[in-house]
Amino acid sequence: MIARLSNLFVRTLREDPADAEVPSHRWLVRAGYIRRAAPGIYTWLPLGLKVLAKVERIVREEMDAIGAQEVRFPALLPREPYEATNRWTEYGPNLFRLKDRKGVDMLLGPTHEEMFTLLVKDLYGSYKDLPLSLYQIQTKYRDEARPRAGLLRGREFVMKDSYSFDMDAEGLQASYDAHRAAYIKIFDRLGLEYVIVKATSGAMGGSASEEFLVIADNGEDTFVRSPGGYAANVEAVTTLAPAPVDSSDAPAPYAVPTPGTPGCDELVELLNRDFPRAEGAWTTPETLKNILFTLRFPDGKTKPICVGLPGDREVDLKRLEASVAPAEIIPFGDEDFAKYPTLVKGFMGPDALGSASASKIEYLADPRLVAGSRWISGANRVDEHVIGLVVGRDFTPDGYLDVAEVREGDPAPDGSGPLTLARGIEMGHIFQLGKKYAEALGLKVLDANGKLVTVTMGSYGVGVSRAVAAVAENTCDDKGLAWPRALAPYDVHLIPAGKDESIYAAAEALASELSARGVEVLLDDRKASPGVKFTDAELLGMPTSVVLGRSLADGLVEVRDRASGERTDVPLAEAADRIV
Ligand code: ATP
Ligand code: MG
Ligand code: MG
Ligand code: MG
Repeated sequence: MIARLSNLFVRTLREDPADAEVPSHRWLVRAGYIRRAAPGIYTWLPLGLKVLAKVERIVREEMDAIGAQEVRFPALLPREPYEATNRWTEYGPNLFRLKDRKGVDMLLGPTHEEMFTLLVKDLYGSYKDLPLSLYQIQTKYRDEARPRAGLLRGREFVMKDSYSFDMDAEGLQASYDAHRAAYIKIFDRLGLEYVIVKATSGAMGGSASEEFLVIADNGEDTFVRSPGGYAANVEAVTTLAPAPVDSSDAPAPYAVPTPGTPGCDELVELLNRDFPRAEGAWTTPETLKNILFTLRFPDGKTKPICVGLPGDREVDLKRLEASVAPAEIIPFGDEDFAKYPTLVKGFMGPDALGSASASKIEYLADPRLVAGSRWISGANRVDEHVIGLVVGRDFTPDGYLDVAEVREGDPAPDGSGPLTLARGIEMGHIFQLGKKYAEALGLKVLDANGKLVTVTMGSYGVGVSRAVAAVAENTCDDKGLAWPRALAPYDVHLIPAGKDESIYAAAEALASELSARGVEVLLDDRKASPGVKFTDAELLGMPTSVVLGRSLADGLVEVRDRASGERTDVPLAEAADRIV
């Protein structure tokens, strides 16, 4: 294949786009790979689209290799399934909602757990059908609070999402391990430098979750690692803060609930027993209001509490009333939020849709309130926490399960040495979901004894469009993009540099020879100055370029390696061999 720059749909820019925050964004725009359509929404131009397709191909090959099968869902989805799992509410302002002409609520899919669960329920009914892994490479929509850095955080973006369906925890573990191995292959093939870190599973409701973070100073995630191999997103590093001895230490009216305050022990016991799903995954101020209340007791004392998930709210409140007999249960109102200008740090973890990074820094709440809430909801989460905390040993109902701010040099929770902090870009995220979605949507199959069993699931995401930017970010320099061969739009960039027709003829001939041998060729056939062509070649970033210039008279061409900058004179007759 030969593309000619004279008619390739590309315009290189000499100026940085005004909104460019990171190098990958600047170069992808300046080199004419992408074009902004609206904040966080980009048009793929021919060069960019080719890179995207190459990332997709790598992802597809590795998914197919573990036996996952490709499907594709619509982006435009009905409300009901997301209502059934409560994510219609929980997702908050990150969800693009719209109405059709009949006034029916719809949404643009931010992730597709519900739809996959229902699809399998629709078609499968027996243990013989499982295990099953399905995936799609598809456009997702999230109304991110701060779209930034071009493709790195878009409001429309391409994700590979897969979902596994198994009969039991062992099966889930096998599916999870297969995905984990496939992700390692994918990110190795993309040439990314990454770490696999423990992540919080939050409201995804699972027991294990890991993220693949590309190490990059411009990343939005902070992770820690130890010399002994511990690695975790700071959101997932949990340490125990000392339990407060006396609630009177905490300023009124939001006394921290401790044993001895009215109704507290009963409340904890009740929540432990009756609300195993209470996970404290708060995603929006609306959701927070649904689960945050102040209890006012007959003696006038008050206590902030967190109850269950919003869907359980009615039940929760009834049980609360019956069990702790407060004089009043007061919903947490706007004024309450206004009173608490402290940022909630590292508490919420990935929300139901994994969009916690944005949400966690938006919420305003008092740390005492959060601590109190965590104290209660943490009790329900402690046994499924990734860190391996054990009730009774690491956590007691009179202590706090606290997500303290981690500092450089702190000991790793597993004792594997001092922690160092670094930043990364989340490229992939794998979750053991367990039965949360299957339960909410009734996905059951018959087991070998004819008994109905709820299916157990995993979900696994790769940021496909984000990968384009992450690779660009990791490889670019001060002259432009510098693609690895696996992702470059073209393998080689031919540059006839000079006015002589024979130079162009030689370039055409070399292009044909390379193309015939399966090399993808970009030929700069423009009648432009060598300087312009060289600058553009560096900006566009093909891994190899070949300059046909004055030394062609001596039968030589210059082969340039974009990444290393190395230049070698090579006989024209051998040029093709060098490049293939
Ligand atoms: P982040 O923490 O960066 O917001 P997330 O945890 O919300 O990401 P997931 O729900 O885990 O994302 O989605 C799976 C993958 O999709 C992520 O690992 C990431 O690579 C990609 N992704 C998520 N949000 C975006 C976005 N706004 N733009 C581009 N890619 C995204
Ligand atoms: Mg995630
Ligand atoms: Mg997010
Ligand atoms: Mg995340």
